[in-house]
Amino acid sequence: MKDFLSTLNICKNVDNFVDYYSLLVEHAKKFNITAITEKKDVAIKHFKDSLAGLWLLPDGARVIEIGSGGGFPSVPLKIENNTLDFTLCEATLKKCEFLKVVSSTLGFENFTVLNARAEELGQDSALRESFDVAVARAVAPLNVLSELMLPLVKIGGRVIAYKGQSYKEELEAAKDAIKTLGGHVEKLVEYDLGGDVGKRCLVVIKKQRQTPLKYPRAYAKIKKCPL
Ligand code: SAM
Repeated sequence: MKDFLSTLNICKNVDNFVDYYSLLVEHAKKFNITAITEKKDVAIKHFKDSLAGLWLLPDGARVIEIGSGGGFPSVPLKIENNTLDFTLCEATLKKCEFLKVVSSTLGFENFTVLNARAEELGQDSALRESFDVAVARAVAPLNVLSELMLPLVKIGGRVIAYKGQSYKEELEAAKDAIKTLGGHVEKLVEYDLGGDVGKRCLVVIKKQRQTPLKYPRAYAKIKKCPL
């Protein structure tokens, strides 16, 4: 993995990525973390993809990740910029246990793992509208995701949603939700992971106004009647 990552030239802290890869492979099945375990696939589809948003995160930013799973994109981002202060929100306990093993093995500080649901954290007055940035990859369509993420971001902060090729359709369906929740689409950052992996897009939403208090709703309602 080390040689492979050096050749790819996608990260500075290669040793930490090698340790993370070992943990992923060791625990992938037990914790149901990822079906992708081949070195090249992990390096490109997980590590390189996660790092696509690195330049959008200011040093020292307070970042919340929704639906962390095995730690994508949060763990690669934290490895490459140790000043970021991360809170991870993951609904599955087993995945949280894995994330805590990763954090202690890599010696992370300011990296909090919460076994919680995003729609509950969004109604917690200690956390609501308190983060500079919220990130998420592969959790829900953008109209649903906006309701999970925007309530947690402070005014002036940003949501960064890692999306695949369906982003245009998702954006169209999420237009009203983003507006209602106090956001506006600031930019779309397209990138290409190369080969047959293909194109991806970061949807960057800036929060301009307070989110009405009734959002986020219970998850069943968000899914049944997305904004
Ligand atoms: N972000 C990771 C990635 O890109 O590999 C994991 C993606 S996985 C498909 C989605 C994760 O989101 C699951 O681990 C699931 O438990 C979590 N999740 C889904 N809805 C959630 C919610 N409302 N609050 C917190 N976690 C949630």
